[in-house]
Amino acid sequence: MDFTLSEELAAVKELAHEFAEKEVAPSAAKDDREHVFRRDLVTKMGELGFFGCVIPEAYGGTNLGFMALALISEEIARAHSAIRVYINMQCGPALTLLDFASEEQKKRFIPGLVSGQTVGCFAITEPDAGSDVSAMRATAAKSGDGYVLNGTKTWISNATVADAGIVFAYTDRSLKHRGMSAFYVNIKQPGVSHRNLDKLGAHASPTGEVTFENFHIPKGSLLGKEGDGFKICMTHLSHTRLNCAAGAVGVARAAREAAVSYANQRQQFGQKIGEFEMIQDQIAQMIVREEAARLLVHRAAWLADQHKPCNLETSIAKYTAAEAAYFNADTALNILGAYGYSTEFPVERYLRDSKSYQIVEGSSNIQKLIIAQDALGYRKANR
Ligand SMILES: Cc1cc2nc3c(=O)[nH]c(=O)nc-3n(C[C@H](O)[C@H](O)[C@H](O)COP(=O)(O)OP(=O)(O)OC[C@H]3O[C@@H](n4cnc5c(N)ncnc54)[C@H](O)[C@@H]3O)c2cc1C
Repeated sequence: MDFTLSEELAAVKELAHEFAEKEVAPSAAKDDREHVFRRDLVTKMGELGFFGCVIPEAYGGTNLGFMALALISEEIARAHSAIRVYINMQCGPALTLLDFASEEQKKRFIPGLVSGQTVGCFAITEPDAGSDVSAMRATAAKSGDGYVLNGTKTWISNATVADAGIVFAYTDRSLKHRGMSAFYVNIKQPGVSHRNLDKLGAHASPTGEVTFENFHIPKGSLLGKEGDGFKICMTHLSHTRLNCAAGAVGVARAAREAAVSYANQRQQFGQKIGEFEMIQDQIAQMIVREEAARLLVHRAAWLADQHKPCNLETSIAKYTAAEAAYFNADTALNILGAYGYSTEFPVERYLRDSKSYQIVEGSSNIQKLIIAQDALGYRKANR
C-alpha cells in the first residue's frame, strides 16, 4: 500500500492549505462570533475548483476525485470548520445530480453549484424525521405537469441563504419508503418561507427551517423516477458523510496543533507542561486518534476513486473522525486550562464545532449501527 500523495494531490493539498491560511483562518473567530455567512468564500472556493473535484469537466468540474476533496475539506475545516460545510452544500447536491439527474438536468444545474454561483442545500430532515428519514411527512402531489410541495424541513444548512437544492418528499406515502421522491428546486420562489435556528457552534454556517406551502415544483425537477427518493437520499448521504469525516479530521488536527503548541510554551511548577507525562499521554492519544481517522478517511476516498463500494468504510471513517474531533477538542481545552475556556483562543470553538460531526450526516450511533449490522450479517453496508 502506498500512502504517498501523487504530485497532483500534493499540489491540491498545498493550494487548499494556502487558501485556508490566507482567506479563512484570519477571520474565523470574527465570522463565528458574528454568525456571518461568507458568500465571498463560496465564490472563491468555486473559482479555485474546490466544489468540482468529483465532477467531470463536461459539467464544470475538475474530476480530481474524492481524495482531492478529502484533502481540501481537511484543510478548510482545520482553519474553520463552519466554512467546510459550504463544500458539502455545493458538492453534495452536484454529485447527487451527477448520479441521478437526466443529461438535460445535469447541464442545467451542476455548473452553477460547482462554480459557486448557485448556493446549494439539501433538505431531508424534518421536525419528526431525523435519523429515521422514512418518517418524513412532506408530500409532493402531482399537479399538471409538475408537483405541489407541502411540508417543513428543519436543521437545513444554508436554509436562509440557498438559491436551490435537493428536497425529498413523498409522492406516494402508501408505498412507504418506496414512495419517496427527490427534486432539485429553486427555493427562492413564492411558497417558501424560512427561519434561522441558533445553535452551539458552526455559526458561520447558517442552519434553519424551511417551510413549503403549496410550493409549485416545475416540470423537469424530479430526479430519476418517482419512488427513487430513498435510494437517492442514501447515496447522497454516503457522499456527504465522507466529506464530513474529512472535515472532522481537520478539527482534530487543529485541536492537536493548538495543544502541542501550548504545552511547549506554558510553564508550571518550573517546567513546560509538555514535560509532564500526563500531558504527554493526552497528546499521544490525540495524535493516534487523528492519524487513525485520517487513514480511514483516505481509505474510503481511495475506494470511492476506484469506483468500489465503500459505504461500510465511509461509516467507519465518519465514526472514527467525529469521535476524534470531539476527543481532541475536549482534550486540547483541558490542556489549555482557562485559556482553553476563553473565547480569545480558538479551542472553545473547536469543541463547539466538533459536536456537530457526531450528529450530522448520520449520528455516531447510526454509523455504529451500520458497522455492527454489517458485521452481524443483518444488513450489508456495501450492497
Ligand atoms: C449543524 C447541523 C446541520 C445540519 N444540516 C442538515 C442539512 O443540511 N440537511 C438535512 O437534511 N439535515 C441536516 N441536519 C440534520 C441532521 O442530519 C440530523 O440532526 C441527524 O440526522 C440526526 O437527527 P436528529 O437530530 O433528529 O436526531 P434523532 O434521529 O432524533 O436521534 C436522537 C438520538 O437518538 C439516537 N438514535 C436515533 N436512532 C437510533 C437508532 N436506530 N439506534 C441508536 N440510536 C439512535 C441518535 O444517535 C441521537 O443520539 C443538520 C443538523 C445539524 C445539527
